[in-house]
Amino acid sequence: MNKGNIYFNEFKDIFNNPEMYLEDDGLNLLYEFVTDSLNMLQQNQKRELKRILQRIETEIEVRRLNNDKCPKCNEELIVLTEKDCEMLEHFGTECRQLISIRKCPNCGWKYDD
Ligand SMILES: [Zn+2]
Repeated sequence: MNKGNIYFNEFKDIFNNPEMYLEDDGLNLLYEFVTDSLNMLQQNQKRELKRILQRIETEIEVRRLNNDKCPKCNEELIVLTEKDCEMLEHFGTECRQLISIRKCPNCGWKYDD
């Protein structure tokens, strides 16, 4: 398991079950993560550190998206309905199929379902 997954799962557990943790637990975990990251930089393990950071980034983005939030800025996503022309073009028919697109009103990020 990637270390990034382990950190993310611990953070997630604290956020999801705050009654099971002490007030300082979140801060202690963050401290541990930062110290670990700084050590890796010092030991020139940049590639490994990058892998961990990217894993955490992805985990957060997926979690936001699953909650209908923008993966980039956490804003509530809006759903737009558009006609899908591209897919039907080679059939030589009109654009009749409707597709929904999730879009962020804040940063402009969008996702075609
Ligand atoms: Zn956004």
